[in-house]
Amino acid sequence: MFPEKLLKTDLEVFKAIKGETEREHSTLELIASENFCSEAVLAALGSVLTNKYAEGLPRKRYYGGCEFVDIIESLAIERLKKLFNAEHANVQPHSGTQANMIAYFALAEPGSVIFGLNLTHGGHLSHGHPVNFSGKYFQIIHYGVDPKTEVIDYDNLWKMAKEYKPKIIVSGASAYPRTLYFDKFQEICEDVGAYHVADIAHIAGLIVAGLHPSPIPYADVVTSTTHKTLRGPRGAVIMCKAKYAEVIDKVTFPGMQGGPLEHVIAAKAVAFKEAMSEEFKEYQKQIVKNAKALAEELKRLGYRLVADGTDTHLMLVDLRNKNITGRDAEKALGEANITVNRNTIPYDPQKPFIASGIRLGTPALTTRGMKEEEMKKIAQLIHKVLSNIGNEKVYEEVRQEVKELTEAFPLYLERRKIYEELLKEIEK
Ligand SMILES: *Cc1c(COP(=O)(O)O)cnc(C)c1O
Repeated sequence: MFPEKLLKTDLEVFKAIKGETEREHSTLELIASENFCSEAVLAALGSVLTNKYAEGLPRKRYYGGCEFVDIIESLAIERLKKLFNAEHANVQPHSGTQANMIAYFALAEPGSVIFGLNLTHGGHLSHGHPVNFSGKYFQIIHYGVDPKTEVIDYDNLWKMAKEYKPKIIVSGASAYPRTLYFDKFQEICEDVGAYHVADIAHIAGLIVAGLHPSPIPYADVVTSTTHKTLRGPRGAVIMCKAKYAEVIDKVTFPGMQGGPLEHVIAAKAVAFKEAMSEEFKEYQKQIVKNAKALAEELKRLGYRLVADGTDTHLMLVDLRNKNITGRDAEKALGEANITVNRNTIPYDPQKPFIASGIRLGTPALTTRGMKEEEMKKIAQLIHKVLSNIGNEKVYEEVRQEVKELTEAFPLYLERRKIYEELLKEIEK
């Protein structure tokens, strides 16, 4: 609200925000962890709630004046519980990494053995990278995917769990295209006496729509971000069985965080309300259909997909048979206004900084209204760029085609108009 105030106070930041809004509109966003939240979510984010200190929980605060933030945070909690059918929820974690930190410290002590998916097989930094807190404070052992099928090798995970007796087994991933069987993880956890932490950061939206199995009936603790398929503000949540409610809340605050970000919590509440709609379910269905369409066309064009395709919103393209590295592909596609990220593939011969693959996801493009037909077209554009690395003329041709597509499916149209008119006025 009131962007003219921003423009008057700080033209440099105004222009950069305007630039980012135009970038989001004018490029094809295929980064699987990104999405475009609604104007309603943005309105809650940009509100006076950022002014308020509210350490504690609704009706149990360490500050006065919390009557309105109590209403907001209670709504967010109740909506989240209903959305996932969870026994308990905490909506304060600032990020997915912090949610995992809270989960680990609630259930284990520093030095405990924790199992996480190998990062080069699709795991997340916060599942035990040596430079991350998880790898520094805990003894992390990684399980992986089967080299042939490239799906999680549950039998081997079970064997490893019997041998190393982990305190926690983390299920969940950032770059895994196939279904996660949380019931199998649970069976293994129960057999070896491990806690089950499920991290559904990527697939939360699919779970809400019933398109992916939910870990809620099984896992002790479930963490998620709110900004990926869930399409809310940047942030995270934790859900758990009632018996862990107290420890999860205490480790969140005062254990790991101070004052909650009530403006973000309000935006989470709005996103959860949106996620309860029939429209949101249809949106999630279209994400999956679009991912399948993109995967099929890429395969038809000769690309090898990790695990031979996708059940979810994302896929990994192994570029080795095309003699391109992930890094070069990311760069070339970027020049053509197609945004992707390089990604290791399982058993990648390249270092993560170079990587042999790219990760593609459909949540953001689906938010713009694109469907299977556009996905097919986009696969062809990707192929055109990757078959002509370094060819400026081809990049320019693809940029034109991207422009046609993005103009046909505009993003933040009114917002962009307002920014444009304000800037014009001041430049007069
Ligand atoms: C994105 C992601 C996170 C972390 O999210 P941040 O908010 O960036 O800290 C955690 N776990 C998984 C599986 C993720 O994909």
